[in-house]
Amino acid sequence: MKKKYVVAKDIYTLADLQTWHDVDPPIRLGVFGDPVEHSLSPQMQNAALKHCKIDMQYARFHILPDELRQAVGLIHKLEFVGINLTIPHKISVLELLEAAEDNVKRIGAVNVVKVEGGKLRGFNTDGRGFARAIREEFSVDLRDLRVMILGAGGAARAIALQCAKENCERLVITNRSIEKAQKLADELRDFFAGPKVLGPVARLQAIPLEEAAIRFQIGNVDLVVNATPIGLNRGDPSPIPARLLAPHVMVYDTIYSAERTPFVSAAIEAGARATNGLSMLLHQGALAFEIWFQREAPLEVMRKALGRSD
Ligand code: NAP
Repeated sequence: MKKKYVVAKDIYTLADLQTWHDVDPPIRLGVFGDPVEHSLSPQMQNAALKHCKIDMQYARFHILPDELRQAVGLIHKLEFVGINLTIPHKISVLELLEAAEDNVKRIGAVNVVKVEGGKLRGFNTDGRGFARAIREEFSVDLRDLRVMILGAGGAARAIALQCAKENCERLVITNRSIEKAQKLADELRDFFAGPKVLGPVARLQAIPLEEAAIRFQIGNVDLVVNATPIGLNRGDPSPIPARLLAPHVMVYDTIYSAERTPFVSAAIEAGARATNGLSMLLHQGALAFEIWFQREAPLEVMRKALGRSD
């Protein structure tokens, strides 16, 4: 019998997964989130799939926290290749997986799942995507940088681990709740035991997200990264004020909802070089594509789909 195709929806739900109707090309990939309407992953991944002549589509799925277990169970049955996870599922999905790469265990968060031989395997491509983004945006490697990270949540943990693995010169973790920053620093301590000599400042430090503490450290950092959600909502302030930034500092805001986020605007006001998180989104997505299909991602096609031509 001829297969019945229906038109693809902008956003799918758990109910759709439970009464699945295939479309043409069939949906075999997607992003699970709550909210999810803001996600740019479908436009980037669908451009890649089309370019590589892979006969499937990537869709958005609005999945509530208490629906995650059922939804993840269904991707098995529906023969999905994999999924991306975004807020608030990156941590809770962990207990639903059968295997995970080492990175995931250290970070405690998953942004990519692959269905591999009937098993669900978790990956985290945020840290590697971040490293590639920094190289591309500022022509410098993490190993040559003194980095300050604002935040100690999922994205910050992935970025901090990447900085540690690449043996960055110095890492300052700055968080609203200092205990979380301290815990992350303690977990990474072994990476910083090496002999890089920096004068009187410690190579690894945890400080509160407070003006006085940041002012004291900023002269000894090269790159400041926002890994908090401050700036996502209209009317948000910059996570740190422009008066704390200086022209020598590079600023990377992982938020990409606006070209000039409040943090990027503050940095420009201070005469610093700054960019938003679109390049990290691109590279973490390209790495996800490579995990799913074991082939090189068409980076320039994906970049163009995100509206970037450089
Ligand atoms: P998360 O796990 O919820 O962590 C949020 C972090 O931000 C925590 O450290 C939290 O501090 C801090 N925070 C939250 N609200 C704050 C406030 N009002 N004031 C001060 N600190 C605050 O979130 P996540 O998954 O790490 O995501 C963080 C951001 O990264 C998201 O906004 C997302 O846009 C971005 N991101 C971008 C990409 C990309 O590809 N460009 C990829 C991943 C994530 P406490 O510990 O004190 O609560």
